[in-house]
Amino acid sequence: MNAAFPPLREELQGIEPYGAPQLDLPVQLNVNENPYGPSPEAAADIARSVGEAAASLNRYPDREFSELRAGLAAYLEGDGGTGITPEMVWAANGSNEVMLQLLQAFGGPGRVALSFAPTYSMYPEYARDTLTEWVAGHRADDFSLDLDAARDLVLEKQPTVVLLPSPNNPTGTALPPEAVTMLCEAAASYEPAGIVVVDEAYVEFRRTGTPSALELLPVHRNLVVTRTMSKAFALAGARLGYLAADPAICDAIRVVRLPYHLSAVTQATALAALRHAPELLGKVEELRVERDATVAWLREQGFEVADSDANFALFGRFADRHAVWQGMVDRGVLIRETGPDGWLRVSIGTAAEMAAFRQALLETVQDTPQQTTQQTPQDTSEQKDLA
Ligand SMILES: *Cc1c(COP(=O)(O)O)cnc(C)c1O
Repeated sequence: MNAAFPPLREELQGIEPYGAPQLDLPVQLNVNENPYGPSPEAAADIARSVGEAAASLNRYPDREFSELRAGLAAYLEGDGGTGITPEMVWAANGSNEVMLQLLQAFGGPGRVALSFAPTYSMYPEYARDTLTEWVAGHRADDFSLDLDAARDLVLEKQPTVVLLPSPNNPTGTALPPEAVTMLCEAAASYEPAGIVVVDEAYVEFRRTGTPSALELLPVHRNLVVTRTMSKAFALAGARLGYLAADPAICDAIRVVRLPYHLSAVTQATALAALRHAPELLGKVEELRVERDATVAWLREQGFEVADSDANFALFGRFADRHAVWQGMVDRGVLIRETGPDGWLRVSIGTAAEMAAFRQALLETVQDTPQQTTQQTPQDTSEQKDLA
């Protein structure tokens, strides 16, 4: 008998759909969201703007989302960018979609996408879905990049797309500007040249003195800087990510994007959010302070903690991290089982949420005595980690 439909593509068979458990627990510290919602004023302006857009939802939206591109360009100009014009900006439904579009345009059969593990586990999925070969180099024990080894790997594999999160997820590690410069130069030195995508999903949380790759945009034509409204901007539910790059890179993406991919509702929401940017970003400073306090506290308790420029901390190491994760769940605190074996990741929440986290962790560790392990970080590209 014939099957009613074909089997899944061979390379997709047996793969679990990506995503963290969405458990309904009182303390949610697992997907790096901003714990503070938009202010009542921002929420009201978003609602009013969406209401206005609703009156003409019979029409397709502005395919080029020109007003939003101009708004995002102006926003980036005020946040360390220089000479960023609307033609240099592109947006989509989350920066995940932006990066998938980059792979659709610049990856593909016979081409290579490259990153350094442990890193964001969506990257190999973009490669898989666009039939791009995936290569993962390795980070040092402190999760930084060994620059010479990284450059050598890029020169050897000649990727058309290099994906560099800064700060990195799940480790929180930011890249120094020398790393971006070195890899942009390496990727420009072969034929066809590669683009270097610096994924700045968490950049607003960076520690003082850590620069943004935006500053290097005027210097490197193959540099792409991606950002998102999902984290510091407190708008994960709206799904809006964007990039800044050479206008020719934006033009290339227009070839692969689906028609009218950014809905009128999304455009109205994002424009209203930009009008309230200072308010939406208003809790970032508080979260940075809470992040530093959390890292310090974990170290005082004797845990290993990766230095973090993001709104989360990776800590360990546990002989049985799943038991610790479960112990936290049993106490109403949802954190993330991700990263190299033995480590756990906690997002930075409100002061009250972090107090609940600290208490639950102390109780859990007491209940589940741990032998800490000392293995070196491993490639986590097989692990599922959304956010
Ligand atoms: C959360 C995150 C993003 C942003 O995802 P959106 O699709 O914009 O919500 C991008 N990159 C990394 C590394 C992330 O952790």
